[in-house]
Amino acid sequence: MCGIIGHIGANGTDTLSVLMSGLNGLEYRGYDSAGIALGGDELRVVKRAGEIEALEAALDDRPLTGSLGIGHTRWSTHGPPTDANAHPHTSETERVAVVHNGIIENYQALKTELQDAGVTFQSETDTEVVPHLIEQALDAGATPEAAFREAVSRLEGSYALAAVIAGTEAIFAVRNDSPLVVGVGEDEYYLASDVPAFLKYTDRVIYLDDGEFVTLTPAGYMVSDATG
Ligand code: GLU
Repeated sequence: MCGIIGHIGANGTDTLSVLMSGLNGLEYRGYDSAGIALGGDELRVVKRAGEIEALEAALDDRPLTGSLGIGHTRWSTHGPPTDANAHPHTSETERVAVVHNGIIENYQALKTELQDAGVTFQSETDTEVVPHLIEQALDAGATPEAAFREAVSRLEGSYALAAVIAGTEAIFAVRNDSPLVVGVGEDEYYLASDVPAFLKYTDRVIYLDDGEFVTLTPAGYMVSDATG
């Protein structure tokens, strides 16, 4: 088991505190690495193998501000617990960051296809195909939300996924055979594998069903199925 946390609020909201509190709230699920990505015009990603304290120590050297981001505690299935294999995973230009719980069963075929198209991988995970697929769709002209949906349409397996894209004030997420819940606050929204991750901020919860997508923005949330 492992965990996802996400948060988005109005400008000036301290997302990093929410993410770190969320990661601590997910610790009971077990994990071997942890990381976060903060959104904005440029994404900032910090991730470490080992305990959340190792991530906190890395963040002490690099304090980050921002009002939108995603975080992850990893329980390795593909690739050992190293810094490089920790989530979030990013696309080649680092404009897409993704966290994932579960297993992408068809990742090897997707990885080969992406490598044949010239993509270089940084990790041994199944997850890393996802940010590259999103970037490929963005490069082909898709909007951020369409690019996320297009990437997800290629995946087989179990997943809760959350993605942020540089320059886009939104978190895109989906679940299939892996838990994901949305928390509704006052002009801020949360995403997590389980309620304890954000319970100290809100007890208003939406439980997503398998196959459901959610887009969070500072103005609200929208749940949809694969057909939109
Ligand atoms: N399969 C992914 C990995 O090995 C995600 C594992 C998890 O659910 O934490 O990185």
